[in-house]
Amino acid sequence: MSALERFLRYVQIDSRADDSSESCPTTPGQLEMQRLLERELREIGLGDAAVDENGYLMATVPATPGRESEAAIGFIAHVDTSPEMSGTGVKPIVHRAWDGSDIVLPDDPTAVLSASELPDLAAQIGHDIVTASGRTLLGADDKAGVAAIVEAAAQLVPHSEIAHGPIRICFTPDEEIGRGANRFDVARFGAAYAYTLDGGNAGELEFESFSADLMRVAFVGFNTHPGYAKGRMVNAIRAAARFVDRLPRERLSPETTDGYDGFVHPYQLEASVDRTSVRVLLRDHVTAKLRKQERLVRTLAEAVAGETGTRVEIEIQEQYRNMREVLDHHPHVVDRARRAIRAVGLAPIERPIRGGTDGSRLSFMGLPTPNLFAGEHNFHSRLEWTSRQDLEKAVAVIVAIAQG
Ligand SMILES: [Zn+2]
Repeated sequence: MSALERFLRYVQIDSRADDSSESCPTTPGQLEMQRLLERELREIGLGDAAVDENGYLMATVPATPGRESEAAIGFIAHVDTSPEMSGTGVKPIVHRAWDGSDIVLPDDPTAVLSASELPDLAAQIGHDIVTASGRTLLGADDKAGVAAIVEAAAQLVPHSEIAHGPIRICFTPDEEIGRGANRFDVARFGAAYAYTLDGGNAGELEFESFSADLMRVAFVGFNTHPGYAKGRMVNAIRAAARFVDRLPRERLSPETTDGYDGFVHPYQLEASVDRTSVRVLLRDHVTAKLRKQERLVRTLAEAVAGETGTRVEIEIQEQYRNMREVLDHHPHVVDRARRAIRAVGLAPIERPIRGGTDGSRLSFMGLPTPNLFAGEHNFHSRLEWTSRQDLEKAVAVIVAIAQG
């Protein structure tokens, strides 16, 4: 079986994560994925492959003779797909030796992948491009990563001439809703460091993420029958609207920043006259700058509360931290990936992520974990695509990292 064949099978299982569920994993489809992978890994020869009570699948590729004493290296991917787009009835289509012309997805002719709009795609003329059919996401995020890891294991096990130390594999649930690291048992995993395979273009190596906090700013007003509210009603919606309007827009917003510039992003509102709460994301690559962002939000919120006669309640929650703060202490982890990427004939592409990965959390849980490409593009979209060639490069990089 090839990496592509594995991938085409995985994407047809609906494993969408569900934020509204408290169970772990949040959906039965993710367990179905894990059971399938457990069987496949056992067939390959990884006898210890097992899904734990939280739906995490771990397995070992034993070291080749003479390298048993090396520290174990981990490879990690997530089995869930984004809740933002349907993952039911995914029909993957392989556009063999794509000639560069528009790819019109058959189930929705308005869904078109065009080389003129997608430079990453334009660079792949001649490759076998894989898309969904127009009504769903594809699920390359992160089933491309899963397929690459399984295929790498399948290549390593029967070939003892490819020398490597112990390798640990973990497939995690619910990454897309920020819970992928929650019940990750780092001690049981037992790797010295790891790599997530959950990135885009061939050659990508990510070891710098945002640091992230979530603020909840709630304005408390006073509700009464609107017909008899004169002089009494205090409308929390008006206060929240004024607050949102005062947040910076020309700078410090997602719409106006890129690269290393952070932002303050109001993204969710729960509104009633009595109480309106705004969720605000704080993001920067420098953790200390989050405190400045917090002060800005607090100052604006308190001023608005004073002007509007509302009371404001503010909570702040740490989400994740820039993995670079950990990885800078373990430079060999990133170096090993760089060497492997070059060894398979690619140039490492190193850019800061404007977001987080499971590795951002895992790195601070004691498992330094940068992120590697798996050929994922147009994440969470009907226009999601990948290519067989990228997938195979990801497999080659895993094998090269294992060899060291
Ligand atoms: Zn992902």
